Amino acid sequence: MSRVYNFSAGPATLPEEVLKRAADELLEYGDSGQSVMEMSHRSKEYQAIIDDCEARLRKVMSIPDNYKVLFLQGGASSQFAMIPLNLMNKTGKADFVITGQWANKAYSEAAKLCGAENCNIVASSKDKTFSYIPELDKSKFNPTADYFHICQNNTIYGTRFAELPDTGNVPLVADLSSCILSEPVDVSKYGMIYAGAQKNMGPAGLTVVIIREDLIGNAKEGTPTMFDYKTHADNGSMYNTPPTYGIYILKLVLEWIEKMGGLTAMKEHNEKKAAILYSFLDSSKLFKPTVQGKDRSLMNVPFVTGDADLDAKFVAEAKKNGFINIKGHRSVGGMRASIYNAMPIEGVEKLVAFMKKFEAENA
Ligand SMILES: *Cc1c(COP(=O)(O)O)cnc(C)c1O
Repeated sequence: MSRVYNFSAGPATLPEEVLKRAADELLEYGDSGQSVMEMSHRSKEYQAIIDDCEARLRKVMSIPDNYKVLFLQGGASSQFAMIPLNLMNKTGKADFVITGQWANKAYSEAAKLCGAENCNIVASSKDKTFSYIPELDKSKFNPTADYFHICQNNTIYGTRFAELPDTGNVPLVADLSSCILSEPVDVSKYGMIYAGAQKNMGPAGLTVVIIREDLIGNAKEGTPTMFDYKTHADNGSMYNTPPTYGIYILKLVLEWIEKMGGLTAMKEHNEKKAAILYSFLDSSKLFKPTVQGKDRSLMNVPFVTGDADLDAKFVAEAKKNGFINIKGHRSVGGMRASIYNAMPIEGVEKLVAFMKKFEAENA
């Protein structure tokens, strides 16, 4: 067996150790006589798995007690609708920073459900293809907004908020799909954090919501039962069948993170990888990074040669050499290396060595 280095933006590479453990336990979990996939979500065995997963997530992320952890389905994309349905309920207004496609979808869905006139765009970086994080002018913040939305790490464009906006008493709601568990975050600074699992947490199908308790229980009239956070908070994420296997894999991923030294160690590991790749890009005569300075993502690194044919040649040769899914998002072209937690340092070093060789042959 030879595993490739998978630079996919998501679903993404998982720690080999986790996959092996899952393989070992695939036919029989413990002495239950069955696979986790086959277990009733109402069984004692499964309850222990979901409880352990939540406890580990709380510990690893230092989640305060006044926050609920919800294990949902529907992807981060369903959250774009659930957030306004549940949170745009006092003044009925919200603030948005548009830093890319995902941030824009969170805005559009809120505008669709609650009216564009109630959705304030504080800033946007669309003018330069979202290649930077815009400066935020606090005078444009609505101090009575029901929430302030950001996409913390912009998976497609490779930018991230190095610092969180200070929104005062307005709850900060953040899409952490592509950076959750990559470094420590102060959960108490957020009203709500949400993330699809398939970048840094596990397989697709699981969505994690971390939400301050006082924001639950005031959904707009007509909100479908399944779209109301209260439904899931009141039922321990068991109102209906949760994505049981994804939750189990997240539990294994959290065990792996604990063994690696927690999120502080994870941050160091990720900074090291990003530094290897960015420092090569900054010195290369062929490859150019598309993002500069402090806005650079630690997780998604886009780059171009400036020649579409050469980009295509690079992507094809990379694939032949075992570096897969390195093509940029269809909306931006070029290349993008996603280097989530589970990408080993060796994977990035080998990629850079391959890029150097390609550069020498194609300069
Ligand atoms: C991948 C991604 C999404 C979409 O996630 P789905 O689970 O496919 O709905 C949303 N936001 C960000 C930042 C992402 O990286």
